[in-house]
Amino acid sequence: MSFIHSIKFRFTIWYLLVLAVLLIALSGGVYFYLSRSLYQSLDRALAIRCTQLCSIQDILESIRRGEFQEQLGEIVILYFYSGDQLVEVSAPGIGVSLSPEFVSKTIGGSSSFVSSQTAEGERLRLVAVSINLSTLGPPPGIQPAALVIARSTRQIENILARLVGTLAIAVLLTLALAAGGGIFLAGRALKPVDKIAQTAQEIEENDLSRRINVNTKDELGRLAATLNAMIGRLEKAFQRQRQFTSDASHELRTPLAVIEAESTLALQKERPPSDYRQSLETISQEARQMSSLIEQLLTLARADAGKEQWNFAEVNLGKLIKDLGTDVEVLCQEKGLSFQLGQTQDLVVKGDEARLRGLFMNLLDNAIKYTPSPGTVSVSLRREGQMAVVAVKDTGVSIPAENIPFIFERFYRVDKSRSRTEGGTGLGLAISRHIAEAHGGKIEVESQVGTGSTFSVWLPLLSP
Ligand code: ADP
Repeated sequence: MSFIHSIKFRFTIWYLLVLAVLLIALSGGVYFYLSRSLYQSLDRALAIRCTQLCSIQDILESIRRGEFQEQLGEIVILYFYSGDQLVEVSAPGIGVSLSPEFVSKTIGGSSSFVSSQTAEGERLRLVAVSINLSTLGPPPGIQPAALVIARSTRQIENILARLVGTLAIAVLLTLALAAGGGIFLAGRALKPVDKIAQTAQEIEENDLSRRINVNTKDELGRLAATLNAMIGRLEKAFQRQRQFTSDASHELRTPLAVIEAESTLALQKERPPSDYRQSLETISQEARQMSSLIEQLLTLARADAGKEQWNFAEVNLGKLIKDLGTDVEVLCQEKGLSFQLGQTQDLVVKGDEARLRGLFMNLLDNAIKYTPSPGTVSVSLRREGQMAVVAVKDTGVSIPAENIPFIFERFYRVDKSRSRTEGGTGLGLAISRHIAEAHGGKIEVESQVGTGSTFSVWLPLLSP
């Protein structure tokens, strides 16, 4: 990434722009204030000088005669008018341009200040007052006269020019230093970003155990913590996926090994038909087991990919449970178990009937599988607030407390060999939980050694 495209650069540019605007505004303020003060003191000095000169008749006389000794850089001139016409100037050689409006205002009696310039282009600040001619003894017919005192503003201009130069250098120097400081500070503040990017680049799919080591309490620290949490979740997901793949291949290997061994044994030599029949029965049972496992694996794969088709409609749970009860009763009888259809009511939920049937059938099938004869399997339906609760109860082997937190995990079985003998795959409860959750419900289990287990499925009732 080039420096120009970095946040560091953009931060610094914005910071410099803001600083430049502030410094220029500040410098402008200083310039304006100083220039106003200087011109105001020049005007005050001119006013005092004017009062001095006007109060002494001899001085006015000497000005008129052109004999007055001006101070350095000062111009003093008397203008005599007849009506609006200028008829006499005390120092005709010095050309100070005065606007007619200014002259008539002065002659009218008000003293005023104005900026002007000499014929040579030198800038002047001047004050003009009308003076009392009676004492001066004017030439006959000449009435109004104006005394003009002008001083060069060169000194003020020099001071202001020096000020502009100093301020310009100060502003540029400050901006240069601020740019250096800004890049340094932005670099320091954004250093964790480099660290985050570097660690993220180093993390590979097969090594998600690494974490970003940024432990500050600021925004970047929070970002690092969020990314670390995300990497943690990814790590767990990858672990689960690896575990699932290895469990699935392991589960498929067992029936395949049995099929292979059984067929090899059968083909080794000529055998009586009853031996072949037995071998084929074993092979067929293992094939059924594999096909059921593959079916369940496909269901979970579709669930993980979110590609399941759900046919949601109104389902009368009471009716569904009674239907299932008829089938389950036969299965219980086959195993020497008694079946009880407990209390049911007509509770309606919004659901996929086939999937809900599969869920309850799996729980009932487990109850039958894990309950030795003589024992009892029962199913009931009740209402709890806005939920319908289907409870499948058995008096079977029960689940030890330490195994309960894991039984809904994929391939988790309390007694692996027992589950396999019973045709179990270890995926039934994981699928059942997925179906319950997809309906906005949940599944819970209670089990006590010696008394059996109760699986309860909670499903939200259809709002009236
Ligand atoms: P399986 O195909 O092995 O039955 P499940 O996912 O349906 O797989 O169940 C997971 C495990 O939970 C079973 O292997 C068994 O150990 C335990 N289990 C499930 N239902 C019952 C039950 N009603 N009584 C005792 N143990 C049960």
